Amino acid sequence: MTGSPVFLCAIYRLISMVQNFHAALGILVLLLFLPLVSASQVNERAFPDIPFKEFSYFIEKNFSSSISLTSVLVILFSVTENAQLLSLHGRQQKKKFQGERSTSATSWIRALARPIRRRLEKGGDYLLDQDDVPTNQDDEQITVAVAMKLDQLAKILDLHPYNNAGNFTGKLKPISHKDIQPVHVICPDAVTCETMACKPRSLPMSTKIRDIPLVTLIKGFAVYDNVQVLAGYCDMCKTTYYADHERTPSSQSGQFDKVYLNSAQYLKIGHSLWVDREFTSAVMSGVYHFHASTAAYTAFWNNVFASESSSGKVSHRQIWQAFVQESVRFMASMSGINLTLPDNLRIDEVTKEAYYVLGEGGLIRAANGHACEECTQKYRRASNQEVDHDQSATVGMDEANVLIGEDHDVEESTAPVKMVVVDGIVMGHSICAYPQCTSELANARGGVYCALHENMFGAMCHVANCINVKVEGTLACQIHQGKWNRYLKNRRQRNLNGFKRAVRRSDDSWPWMEANQQNTQPHDEDTDTRRDRDAFVPSRIYCVETICAPCGVVVAWAKFAKAESPTNILQFLDHVYPVDESRPDYICIDKACLVLRSSIANGSWQRWSQTSRFIVDSYHYTNHRATDVLCRTWCNPAPLNGVAPNLVIRGTNNDGDPYQKHAFNTQACEQLNAWLGGFESILKRMTPGNFNWLLHTMLCYHTVHVLKRQKHTQNSAHMYN
Ligand SMILES: [Zn+2]
Ligand SMILES: [Zn+2]
Ligand SMILES: [Zn+2]
Ligand SMILES: [Zn+2]
Ligand SMILES: [Zn+2]
Repeated sequence: MTGSPVFLCAIYRLISMVQNFHAALGILVLLLFLPLVSASQVNERAFPDIPFKEFSYFIEKNFSSSISLTSVLVILFSVTENAQLLSLHGRQQKKKFQGERSTSATSWIRALARPIRRRLEKGGDYLLDQDDVPTNQDDEQITVAVAMKLDQLAKILDLHPYNNAGNFTGKLKPISHKDIQPVHVICPDAVTCETMACKPRSLPMSTKIRDIPLVTLIKGFAVYDNVQVLAGYCDMCKTTYYADHERTPSSQSGQFDKVYLNSAQYLKIGHSLWVDREFTSAVMSGVYHFHASTAAYTAFWNNVFASESSSGKVSHRQIWQAFVQESVRFMASMSGINLTLPDNLRIDEVTKEAYYVLGEGGLIRAANGHACEECTQKYRRASNQEVDHDQSATVGMDEANVLIGEDHDVEESTAPVKMVVVDGIVMGHSICAYPQCTSELANARGGVYCALHENMFGAMCHVANCINVKVEGTLACQIHQGKWNRYLKNRRQRNLNGFKRAVRRSDDSWPWMEANQQNTQPHDEDTDTRRDRDAFVPSRIYCVETICAPCGVVVAWAKFAKAESPTNILQFLDHVYPVDESRPDYICIDKACLVLRSSIANGSWQRWSQTSRFIVDSYHYTNHRATDVLCRTWCNPAPLNGVAPNLVIRGTNNDGDPYQKHAFNTQACEQLNAWLGGFESILKRMTPGNFNWLLHTMLCYHTVHVLKRQKHTQNSAHMYN
């Protein structure tokens, strides 16, 4: 293939970009589905341009009189698409060297005729008239007859590697289909007016001929220039209909709303750039599967598809626009609505408003009412006889000499037992540097305070508690210039070192972790509100907390601005599970005993104890049980003594011996966080609005994928049973 060096180079660059073998494999898989547009830029010959009459005469004379248009086009394009095969065929037709034979119906041309016949005859279209095919001919002889027609057609189209003098001219160049590209027009998505109060009236075109915009359209990963964009208009309801949205008078007079159409086939992503949904879906999928930043995706697209001409080149703003436009439709379709926002919003306002309408406070709609075999178990009643054993013993850690009794009876009549896992991952966007303030920065580029605190302290020295006026162009007063310069020097050094990722929350310190005498930020306490820290950089949201089912379905997420405190976790759980009926039986949290303590202290345990138990993860439990009675008594993730038959079930090992095992797999949350962590470097640079939108849409997208995978596994399981 002539385009492959460009192509391979693009793949290579891409792989070095993602630095991750798994993701690289994914990219290769993705690329297999993309046609090679860049090939059109290398050394091609124009599409054969003979008079139509000549072509039509040839078809009439050589093929069946009832041949269909489809068959004629299949034959024509099969010939123009296979220049390389025609070169091989043509060369073999003429003997040149000793030992060669001149073959008219070479096996090359017959190999082309056979699938054409198979394809068209399957649809009932026979290429040759019955009269042309004597009854005693076998199938291969008919193929040879068709092959010779193809040979003649190729020669008429001048797709033959010999010149008039009969000299071999070498390999035929691939044939460009650019000259026969259809003309595309981008039209409204609707055919008639869709306003409820209106009749389904026809839609006159509202664009004046001299005002028709000519844009670039990327469709099927190919680029088309000078495409017209047309709009329709209903004079009754004053709605303008476009391909990707409708502009309709809002309830406030003089204002307009923009309805983002989920059914749109084309989306506008730049001033004069439109793309099809395949393009935008690929962007969303790329962000999801490769943690691709808009910059990385832009580089990928421009490398592979737009390397030589500027047409079809995209900017990272346009890729972000494509992501937002597609994700808005994805989220709105899940809610069964078309998103309606005020017209003419800036893109960062669109994400903010879209999250407000479709974000559901961090609840993942796709997970609503979800239950599967992995995250629920049939209810088992505890028996009384086994309670004598050490109640702090736990499965997986203390297997010693425990008699394994019969598996507990399943009670079908009782509701199944459900578990969720709560976990946090340190990442967040910038917020105001003023202590305890969590507001958005007034100036996302370089500012450190929110609008209020910028107004109060922006002109002052940013060193803790200093009230001098700052020197223009710096963030410190005359006295503190040394400190400011040291900060600048350190920042440069940090940038050179690249960013270091925190593997585990570094500023987290709990009793079961190794003593770390750092002065950590106090949890659940009011800190005083003096400016007691230097404010050269903005603060950051502390962590993202997720609730996830053992099967990987994400239930909800939340941001904790300052700490992953038990109070924050309890508030999050109350928000996600407002009614008792919805509450899971077991909530696995790595600091469950602290959450339990807070819950008892603030009185909420009275209600929680009716429905749920907070259990810890095994890692925490083995370190903590020795010193903490509450933890030992209430938070054991898998008691060996049989008091929690719903957490421990009986399995059989390879030798057929019974053993006890955890009923729920809590790995899913760790896997989720490992994947989520891949977005950290993209997310931390985002404004709060974009941060919320990207994170929420990715978690929804992820959950839809997990559910799809489950369905697939179930279906294949049914097939083999
Ligand atoms: Zn109307
Ligand atoms: Zn599940
Ligand atoms: Zn502030
Ligand atoms: Zn100062
Ligand atoms: Zn504990």
